[in-house]
Formats: sequence, structure tokens, C-alpha cells
Amino acid sequence: MTSAGNNEESSSRGTNAVRSVANRTVVVTGAASPRGIGRATAIMLAARGWNVGILDIDAAGGEALASELTTTYNVKTCAVAADVANESEVRAAIDALEAALPPLAGLANIAGVSSPVPYLELTSDEWHRVINVNLNGVHYVTRRVAESMVRHRYGRIVSISSTSAQRGGGTYSKTPYSVAKAGVIGLTRALARELGPYNITVNAVAPGPIDTDIMGGPLSPDRRDALAADLLTNRIGQPEDIASAIAYLLSDDSTYITGQTLNADGGLYMH
Ligand code: NAD
Repeated sequence: MTSAGNNEESSSRGTNAVRSVANRTVVVTGAASPRGIGRATAIMLAARGWNVGILDIDAAGGEALASELTTTYNVKTCAVAADVANESEVRAAIDALEAALPPLAGLANIAGVSSPVPYLELTSDEWHRVINVNLNGVHYVTRRVAESMVRHRYGRIVSISSTSAQRGGGTYSKTPYSVAKAGVIGLTRALARELGPYNITVNAVAPGPIDTDIMGGPLSPDRRDALAADLLTNRIGQPEDIASAIAYLLSDDSTYITGQTLNADGGLYMH
């Protein structure tokens, strides 16, 4: 890793190579799901001019979204298939995105899995599956992308945690999910400290219940109402509610914010 600090070309907006959004790529993991937070985020960022690199285990879904974004928003896109829990696959995937697209300046770690298994029924395999995807996966992707960001003296990293980390579950997923999502908050704080000298901010977004398919499939109207009963907003969240929080933390409007967890949760958790 090169040393932080003096670099003739660098400024708070990075080196010349990344100074405008048209020259920046954001890597979005977990964007392939048709009703998911990742897709809404990729669309919002493309609409704001970001070039988008998609990393998802679902190859066909990722490729379909990439061509949709290019057609609709006239930005550069590329999709690669990888399992975030597999470090060598992740490194090869980010290498491919970096070769195909403008400099990597943003990262949205969104890929994740749910796990409703009660603690006393938990197997070791289930524990490791959830930690590997939801925590180790965030580390593998972030580590590789950060190696590129330090070269440009610019980076915006946002990872999805959950109110489950703060409230000990309480909506759908249980212990290993809460543990992994709490780990994302610790990772966010430690990386904010270590990567700050390179003009890289690192934040997390903690969603409350969002109307996607991750809680065991599409939510019934009754289930939506039950989840909304805990909230101050009279409704559960839509993927765009989380996408806009992520887009803000990836933008140059949030330069002074790092190491934080932004709750976008309808008031479910106040801290
Ligand atoms: P989703 O199931 O619709 O999307 C998850 C995406 O991650 C899919 O595109 C899937 O293919 C991808 N993915 C899963 N495992 C992967 C792996 N091993 N490697 C690469 N890609 C993988 O779910 P969503 O609701 O959009 O959730 C997105 C993120 O938001 C997750 O991290 C989830 O834990 C978090 N979250 C969701 C809610 C909610 O209520 N929906 C609340 C809090 C946090």
C-alpha cells in the first residue's frame, strides 16, 4: 500500500482520475435480486451518473441489470458473477470490473442472506454460512476495492448492516444474522479510522423492515401491517428508502461523515 498524504494531484475529491462522477465507478454487490435493495441502489446511482460494476452470485440477473442501466442511463456497466464468501472469486471479480470500467471510487456492500433459525436449533453449517456471506463477504470485497481506492486518494464505502444488529433481531432473522450485521458496524468503524488518511469514508446503513423478498418470500399485506405496527412511519420501507441513504453516503455531500451507522428504519431504533 502506498503512503497517505502528499500527492500533487489529490484533493478532497481525489486525484484527477476520479474528480467527476462520470469518471467514477461504484461497485454494487447483491444487485441482481428483482425486488431488492441492491437493484434499487444500482438504478439510483446510475441515474446520478455513476458507472456501475455489479457483483452478484446470480450471473443472469446481474447481466440483465447491467444492460438495462446502460440502455436507460447511458453509463458504463459490467456484471460479474461471484460468491462474496469466496475470497479468490471476489478478487478475480473485482479485477475484472476494474479492467472494464473507470476507476473504482464507490462501494455498496449489499449482498446478504437471511437466517430465521432459532439459536437452539442452529447447526454449525448455518452459523458459518451466514457469517461467511454477511460479514466475511463484506470484508473480502471491501479489502480488494480499498486497494484500488487508496491509489486514487478517494473512496466512499457503504455497507448494509441492520437494526437486527442493534436490537438483537426482532423482525425475521436471528442470532448469526445479528452477529454478522453487528460485525459490519465494527468493521465500518475500524476501517473509517484506517482508511481516513487516504480520503476514504466508510459508513454503514441499518435498514429496518424493507419490502423485499429476503424475509422468506414476498410479504403478505398482513405481514406488512404487523411489521409496520412497530414503526413511527405507518409503513414499512421500500428499497428506494435505503438506496437514497446509500446514495447520500456515496456522494460528495457527505464528505464529513465517516465511521457512522445511518438508521433508515422508520424510527424502529433510536440511539
Ligand atoms: P434480496 O434477497 O432481495 O437480495 C440479496 C442479493 O444478494 C441478491 O441479489 C442475491 O443474489 C445476492 N447474494 C446473496 N448471497 C450472495 C453471495 N454469497 N454472493 C453474492 N451475492 C449474493 O435481499 P434484500 O432485502 O435486498 O437485502 C439486501 C441487503 O439488505 C442484505 O444484506 C440484507 O441483509 C440487508 N437488509 C435487508 C432488510 C430487509 O428488510 N429487506 C433489512 C435489513 C437489512
